[in-house]
Amino acid sequence: MSSLKNFTRYSAQFLKNTLIRNKPEFLIFFVTSNCNCLCNICFYWRELNKSDSLSIDEIRKISKSIGTFRILLLSGGEPFLRDDLSEVCQQFIENNKISALTIPTNGVLTEKIVDFCGRVLREYPELILSVSISMDGFRDLHDSTRGVAGVFDKATETLRKLLKLKNHYKNLELIVNTVITNRNIDQLGPFIDFVFDNFDINYHDFELLRGDYKDRYIYLPPLEGIKKAHNLIVRNRKRYLKKENANFLEYFAAISLLRLSQRTKERFLTGKKPLFACSAGRNIAVIDANGDVKLCELLPAVGNLKDTNYDFPAVLNLKKAKEFKRTIKETNCSCTHVCFIKLTVSSYFRSIFYLIYSYIIY
Ligand code: SF4
Ligand code: SF4
Repeated sequence: MSSLKNFTRYSAQFLKNTLIRNKPEFLIFFVTSNCNCLCNICFYWRELNKSDSLSIDEIRKISKSIGTFRILLLSGGEPFLRDDLSEVCQQFIENNKISALTIPTNGVLTEKIVDFCGRVLREYPELILSVSISMDGFRDLHDSTRGVAGVFDKATETLRKLLKLKNHYKNLELIVNTVITNRNIDQLGPFIDFVFDNFDINYHDFELLRGDYKDRYIYLPPLEGIKKAHNLIVRNRKRYLKKENANFLEYFAAISLLRLSQRTKERFLTGKKPLFACSAGRNIAVIDANGDVKLCELLPAVGNLKDTNYDFPAVLNLKKAKEFKRTIKETNCSCTHVCFIKLTVSSYFRSIFYLIYSYIIY
């Protein structure tokens, strides 16, 4: 899949979302609450390992209720702990005609991950499969963040094997994802270079520490440090785009959106109003492992799919969901979650002016 084709799809979606509201185009589905790590930065740690994940029959009903949408992100827990993950994906690819499937992973289950990717890439050549491997710093820091010895080595082994697969499948996108905290901010520069020099990935992505994590000795660095990190990240993204021979439009789309996302995060951290009302529940929504539906990962559930016979649109139409959507707007709800920031930006026509401003000036 060429990056030009990706860009064309993105642009078409951008225009569609400005005209058609209230249609989730991006679904985050926690396929399992089981996890094989003990990360001290995990915002989902209270929900882990509850063994109440939806069955494949329940997932089939949910998928059939949704209609077509564009991007599915399978989260968890560790998604690859689910033995029927291929079948889960098959439901969404065939029933919902998704064009992109994103799976964040801690990268521990090397063989399972590589087998799964090989199978999906072979069977669905039109699908863009993005695998995002967590790496929060060099070996010692990463292992202590993830709470399990050897995770760094497993993650890098998985990445190397997936890179071999990438030589045969252009529709495989590989990303390294780093969560920025007080513990890794000082080694961010060398770590970014290490990833760039050692792994031929598509790009290196970053999240700010967020949500309700369990270790109180970990926190977000001060704003000045975050701003410096943001500049570093922009420079880094530019060299990945150069490596991929991106054309001007691809370059503009990537850099302007990255800068606008960073600006949104910095506004939130300084207590300023968001530039746009968050589109949570309109073009992006979340299904939890137990069937709870949330407008975003940080807000309480608006209902459970088991109460609507697995009818997803019906839950999004419940009175509580409508009230939450109103409250998000009225309270200028804001946060640093990049998926929601990007989907919010894509749902406003006027965001094109902010993108141009962010590209040129910010
Ligand atoms: S791998 Fe993900 S889900 Fe598991 S503990 Fe770490 S952050 Fe949480
Ligand atoms: S701004 Fe953040 S917390 Fe508020 S609704 Fe959007 S994603 Fe959720």
